[in-house]
Amino acid sequence: MAFTPSPDDENKNMTVDPRTQLENKSFWQRNYGAYSPNPPLTESFKADVVIIGAGFTGLNTAWQFKQDNPNARVVVLEAAIVGFGASGRNAGFSTKMFGLEPEMVLLRWGRQKMFEAHQYLKKAVAYTRNLIEEHQFQSDYQHNGLVRISYSDKQLDRMKKTYQLFQELGIDDDMTWRDRSQVQQDFHSDQFAGGIYETDTGQLDPCKQVRALKKLAESAGVEIYETTPVTHIERTASVILIETPSHKIAADKIVVATNAYSRQIPDTRRLQTRQYPLWTYQVVTEPLTEAQWDSIGWKNRQSFGDNRQMLHYFRPTADGRIIMGGGDAIVYRTEAMREVPSPASWDHCEAHLKWIYPQLRNTRIDYRWGGPVSVNVDMVPEISFINDERVIYSGGCFGHGVALTHLNGRTIADLLNGNKSELTDFWIVNRRSISLSSDTLTFLGGRLARKALRAWDCWEERKLKA
Ligand SMILES: Cc1cc2nc3c(=O)[nH]c(=O)nc-3n(C[C@H](O)[C@H](O)[C@H](O)COP(=O)(O)OP(=O)(O)OC[C@H]3O[C@@H](n4cnc5c(N)ncnc54)[C@H](O)[C@@H]3O)c2cc1C
Repeated sequence: MAFTPSPDDENKNMTVDPRTQLENKSFWQRNYGAYSPNPPLTESFKADVVIIGAGFTGLNTAWQFKQDNPNARVVVLEAAIVGFGASGRNAGFSTKMFGLEPEMVLLRWGRQKMFEAHQYLKKAVAYTRNLIEEHQFQSDYQHNGLVRISYSDKQLDRMKKTYQLFQELGIDDDMTWRDRSQVQQDFHSDQFAGGIYETDTGQLDPCKQVRALKKLAESAGVEIYETTPVTHIERTASVILIETPSHKIAADKIVVATNAYSRQIPDTRRLQTRQYPLWTYQVVTEPLTEAQWDSIGWKNRQSFGDNRQMLHYFRPTADGRIIMGGGDAIVYRTEAMREVPSPASWDHCEAHLKWIYPQLRNTRIDYRWGGPVSVNVDMVPEISFINDERVIYSGGCFGHGVALTHLNGRTIADLLNGNKSELTDFWIVNRRSISLSSDTLTFLGGRLARKALRAWDCWEERKLKA
């Protein structure tokens, strides 16, 4: 079990302590086995670029920028260890999904921007796959597709409209519509009402992936310091001063690649209030036997996402387990780096898996964990300069940041170089995002939104059997 439950802790604050954080691991982190983090920062110096946060965003940016500028001193500071954050906890879908839901993106941003986002994400999936193949990352990558699934007739009607929209926009090239009987034939579950099969989606082991990126960045000459939290940022006319508990670095430019943890970053309120962490939880089964796999079909081992508002996501693992996540998402008032266990969410994931597949009713759940995704009011990600062009922030990736953050590394490197490119023209770059300035209102708003989305799901699923 990943967490020691302490539900009454929900509203307490705690100073970030890397030693306690490391006890809370995802399935991928646990499976990775022994990991030796790099030593923390032990001296003060001047660097060209400092990147805060060693997840997919930070490490891709560092590697790309260092390749462009072999003589530059490029430093990554990580508060915990590489892969501690969402990059080492996620479900590992390398997907073209963007923002919250296609319908929401359409409503808020319109057709043209939705089309452009799709093109960027398509590039991101290809970029991630090429990176893995070219550098022979051992991150269990499989390019075996995604199934978007509905359970009820109401959800299916909505999904049909989404599919129609994809067709109208001409972004359905890898998609096929499948009705109830076809889906049930492929996946042996009475609960599936129909869906969309997409071929251009990959899946990977995120912890292996982020640590392979660490090695790649280091091989190019990037310096990475772990268990080194940034505790203060100060702007002077000539440099940006970054403080850690024991030493300082003066940098020409910095990148804040802390995603869901950015509310804790010790800089301007303008940076901290751009997003909020939303917790999502996952469970993983024991490895299934061949007979169990035969009983549920699923021969091509695709990833799955349903079209509920509180979506579930599920996928097989390389060693024959099933991961089930989502179904709920929770806003807490604690700092995001503090783990909050949610037994109710884990029970829900297990029950949902067994509702889909009663064939697995006796299958054991081996491990449970959770992680924060970064959400914002605009419901799409952003890459922005903060106050001046020396500070670049990236966040708001929702639960769809695996491929996105890989390509964002290239985009941010272009910004650091001062280059305009096709990537920096993407409309999430330097857009004006809405600030979530009041912590209390954000918390209450998050809870209210959760209630509304749950009610929507209940309404659409009211005719389903329990
Ligand atoms: C449970 C879960 C499931 C998900 N599933 C998927 C999925 O299947 N597909 C998909 O596309 N996306 C998924 N996502 C989203 C995806 O994982 C993220 O969008 C992506 O990993 C973000 O990467 P990042 O590098 O920006 O942030 P992170 O990986 O979170 O990295 C930020 C880093 O900053 C560090 N940090 C924080 N504060 C400081 C400080 N003061 N000083 C120094 N370092 C600091 C943190 O320790 C952390 O390592 C999921 C997310 C979660 C949580």
